[in-house]
Amino acid sequence: MHIHEYQAKRLFNDFNIQTPKGILIDKITKAKSACDVLRSDVWVVKAQVHAGGRGKGGGVVLCRSVEEVERASQQLLGSQLITPQTDSKGLLVGQLLIEAGQNIERELYLGLLIDRQTQKITVLASTEGGMEIEKVASETPDKIIKFGIDPLGSLSVQDCTLMAQKLGLNTELTKQFNNTLLGLYEIFTQKDVNLIEINPLIVTQENQLLALDGKIDFDDNALYRHKDIVALRDISQEDEKERLASEYQLNYISLDGSIGCMVNGAGLAMATMDLIEHFGGSPANFLDVGGGTTADRVAKAFELIQTEANVKGILVNIFGGIVRCDLIAQGILQAIETVGLTLPIVVRLEGTNAPKGLNLLDKSEFNIHVESDLTKAAIKIVALTK
Ligand code: GDP
Ligand code: MN
Repeated sequence: MHIHEYQAKRLFNDFNIQTPKGILIDKITKAKSACDVLRSDVWVVKAQVHAGGRGKGGGVVLCRSVEEVERASQQLLGSQLITPQTDSKGLLVGQLLIEAGQNIERELYLGLLIDRQTQKITVLASTEGGMEIEKVASETPDKIIKFGIDPLGSLSVQDCTLMAQKLGLNTELTKQFNNTLLGLYEIFTQKDVNLIEINPLIVTQENQLLALDGKIDFDDNALYRHKDIVALRDISQEDEKERLASEYQLNYISLDGSIGCMVNGAGLAMATMDLIEHFGGSPANFLDVGGGTTADRVAKAFELIQTEANVKGILVNIFGGIVRCDLIAQGILQAIETVGLTLPIVVRLEGTNAPKGLNLLDKSEFNIHVESDLTKAAIKIVALTK
């Protein structure tokens, strides 16, 4: 789960990490008083969307007068912001963070994530902040400073100081850096975070270290124990289809291929997608309908797949372990009728009562291609959608 920059910064402040002063507004009429309260002569208007690259997309505007702030707010509020990290529709800007502008001396990068290879929490830092860190890592890997923390261990002040030295920070800034890094580490471990990032972490001309941006991605599987974090969710920023799917306990992820997939089990879903790719097709989605599949959920799944504009055909791949294949077949027929499905469809059933299920589908009035072999089913759907 992602949160907005302003929410990340409030969490930063709770954990002793310094940020510029800012005020959140959701109406243009509130822009002037926000400027007055911030008492500055330079302001930054920042669109709050769940995507980075806002600077490049026109979502971060430096303003030198209240009129400029009002103009920027007028333009941004209610608009769809497109950045290099959004799709072509962009994301709705419902709120703006207005901040007092800073005199930036240096832009650094600081982030924590889980490195599955080393099985450690990895601290990443760089003197090249303000840019995409992936780009820095691939083009100038020597500019990335890395440090691994054992998940059962802890982060010491000495570890932080060593990093501060590598970033070329003086004594006063090192103190501030240590607080910042320790704060990030506390948030990371206490709140079950996947990724936490400050880009840029700036050094001001007044010798202050400030988090100018904030990005946090929380582990969805741990949200049940963080009610405070769940309360920060903004569904206007989430993919509509993925949100609907989660309401029906379907694991759904939109992709850009042409073959819709309906599979039970995440591993089987991945194998199915691999096989489609192997035979020259491309999946339009990842969908795991779960173990105890019901006709109702199958219908919902078909409905979701059909809303993808690029889908040309559907491959259903169900292994009947807990459920019986003949029941699934009935569910599929019911769903096709309810949804009014017209796309070519290949169904592969295996497991309990598979022959009975396939037979039901085969003699139905609908144009369903049945297979008990997954390879044949994949070849068939690729051919039907070419
Ligand atoms: P992102 O593009 O979504 O990552 O948004 P950021 O919050 O990182 O802002 C993008 C860029 O805007 C930063 O890297 C800064 O260079 C610039 N910026 C943001 N706030 C200020 C500010 O107060 N003063 C100045 N001079 N530049 C700023
Ligand atoms: Mn940024």
